[in-house]
Amino acid sequence: MQTEDRIYAYSAVLMGSPILLKLFSDNQSLAAQVFGLIKQLEDLLTVNRPHSEVMSINHAAGSHPVSVSEPVFNLIKRARAVSLLPGSCFNFTIGPLVKRWKIGFHGDTVPPASELQALLALTDAHQVILNEQERSVWLAMAGMEIDLGAIAKGYIADVIKNFLQQQQVTQALINLGGNVHTLGSGWSIGLKKPFSDPDALIGVIEVANKSVVTSGIYERYFEREGRRYHHILDPRTGYPLDNELLSVTIISDDSLDGDIYTTLIYGMGVEGGLAYLAGLPHIEAILVTQAKEVILSSQRQFSFRLLDDEYHLR
Ligand code: AMP
Ligand code: MG
Repeated sequence: MQTEDRIYAYSAVLMGSPILLKLFSDNQSLAAQVFGLIKQLEDLLTVNRPHSEVMSINHAAGSHPVSVSEPVFNLIKRARAVSLLPGSCFNFTIGPLVKRWKIGFHGDTVPPASELQALLALTDAHQVILNEQERSVWLAMAGMEIDLGAIAKGYIADVIKNFLQQQQVTQALINLGGNVHTLGSGWSIGLKKPFSDPDALIGVIEVANKSVVTSGIYERYFEREGRRYHHILDPRTGYPLDNELLSVTIISDDSLDGDIYTTLIYGMGVEGGLAYLAGLPHIEAILVTQAKEVILSSQRQFSFRLLDDEYHLR
């Protein structure tokens, strides 16, 4: 724990990320409850270990439906719907490709194009069969794998925020490594400078009672023969998404929305993404491009201060 003014900060490493909780009073036992809750949810949702509810669905692919807990079922239902939106780059059945690339893990490789083509056939979200009565999920083809890596943190951030509210906490920040959720006003959140020092910032986002989620291609990647391969895959090609964007930040009330829209808008690129955002007044975004431009959707729900002079506002 460290104290800066009246802020008490607690940290842990969970879900392979540094987790930070900030409170306005020293409450070690509340922090322990928050970290315990995160761990419990990670145990349900992870695909980076042999056992979890999601892994039990994956293990039964092509064989039989698996009944799961209500939160896991609801999250899968939402993920399926978003994956089936017309032109969506979000696809929660991307698991076989994620596992083959191993980006950010030991043994990362550029797979042969023919293998990627074969794996793409296993990423059809229509082949995820849900049964509301049984609360069951069935992956209809052997080899299919669900991956909730793009939305698990957003979902967990919302659960933590609700838990803190139930505990009568009015001022708090939870940072799940890329997903920040805030209670109360006066929070400043750094926007990371891509491919730079871990502490370097493009600017600072100021919000009250909002979630701030960033997806960036600098978060997890490897380099081979002068090319960079990052962890957000294009479900149309099987290769990392390739467009003019470096990162997408979403400012919203719910962190699950933020986590979904970062991936969706990433796939749309700058012009498509801005047009789409125009129809979503409750969602705001900050886009950072390869040309070092920072594009703000509108600033009704946040303010942004540019700090780095290599970047400019468009
Ligand atoms: P995020 O950190 O929220 O940007 O999510 C990245 C993670 O989502 C990756 O590490 C994969 O586990 C998963 N993923 C990669 N590509 C996609 C995609 N096109 N749709 C959904 N999930 C993806
Ligand atoms: Mg995401």
